[in-house]
Amino acid sequence: MNSIQALNFKGKKVLIRVDFNVPLDDTFKVTDNTRIQSAKATILKVLEDGGSCILMSHLGRPKAKEPEFSLRHIVPTVEDVIGVKVLFSEDCIGSEAQEKAAALKPGQVLLLENLRYHKEEQAGDLSFARQLSDLADFYINDAFGTAHRAHASTTIVAQFFQNSKCFGYLLSKEIESIDKVMRSGEKPVLAILGGAKISSKITIIENILDKIDHLIIGGGMSFTFIKAQGGQIGDSICEDDKLDLASEILRQAEAKGVSVHLPVDVLAADDFSNTANTQVVDISAIPAQWQGLDCGPRTQVHFHDVVQQCKTILWNGPLGVFEMETFSTGTIALGNAIAEATQKGTFSLVGGGDSVAAVKQFGFQDKVSYVSTGGGAMLESLEGQTLPGIAAMQSN
Ligand code: AMP
Repeated sequence: MNSIQALNFKGKKVLIRVDFNVPLDDTFKVTDNTRIQSAKATILKVLEDGGSCILMSHLGRPKAKEPEFSLRHIVPTVEDVIGVKVLFSEDCIGSEAQEKAAALKPGQVLLLENLRYHKEEQAGDLSFARQLSDLADFYINDAFGTAHRAHASTTIVAQFFQNSKCFGYLLSKEIESIDKVMRSGEKPVLAILGGAKISSKITIIENILDKIDHLIIGGGMSFTFIKAQGGQIGDSICEDDKLDLASEILRQAEAKGVSVHLPVDVLAADDFSNTANTQVVDISAIPAQWQGLDCGPRTQVHFHDVVQQCKTILWNGPLGVFEMETFSTGTIALGNAIAEATQKGTFSLVGGGDSVAAVKQFGFQDKVSYVSTGGGAMLESLEGQTLPGIAAMQSN
């Protein structure tokens, strides 16, 4: 498959799967246009080459054709972002879509109505996908956020574009970034896993142990490991049915030569509240009725040092309950440490759920190498799964 950069779209009608699943306010105005911005480079490449774009996306989770989920709401924002007038089709298939697509001239953009107004989209229906494909002569997938779904527009449609499909710039960058961590990254490679639960990260840990040199385990999930090693964790969050598993992971890591770094101290609170009483205690000596809600100062220094030693870093999951200011210090300190390393040439990838929210909340998005746009898709990639939307592009 060709890279988008190497292709010329002159005279081509290009069907582009974008992720315009953006948040809207009560008056249906877009409140965060990041996803539209992310698709801009691909759209402009096609237009500047002398092609035309047929954009398709889902928005929200409509059960029927509920007007609040119409992509018509976002037309002015797309026009603002790409600086080109955007035509709209009231349906993504059928006569209006066909006529408007057929009439498109080079340099023009057509946005199709919400794909999920048709249940065939999520069902991965072949005939629905064929109707989408009939609108264009080339297909670009630039929606990482849905690449882990075998939906009609993300996966099934690709088979109708033999040798005439490619990834967009955004999806290429996502694939390249994950590849740097999982396959081609400069050593030492560090993975930082935080967040609430070990159970949601097990498959990731098992998959990455062969690829990394250091593993930092922080946040709520660290307490299961500390308890498994005999520590007193008070009322801290813990998955008691995963204690053996935690010990097994530590054994596996040692056997594979991975250095595991757990917190050594913790900011403990007497209540799950921003205004709770707090004290810094040893991670293995948390008093009864107290719970660890952030990593402590000695841990922050230790994690800083590990981060500075590494050349490739993956960060998934906060180190504390960062949503409450009192317990956000550890996550902010880690963000600063990663920013410092990145500035010195380390490649840093942040992805998957709450770590992206934390990075944005504290303004680190421009200080790390890459922030992934796909939560579920990113996690499945780290688990070692081949995403259907990516596999479909790689087979002719
Ligand atoms: P996850 O979705 O598994 O990445 O978990 C993210 C959530 O973990 C965030 O909402 C954090 O508030 C929460 N979290 C992080 N550290 C702790 C902790 N020590 N105790 C309870 N929750 C935590």
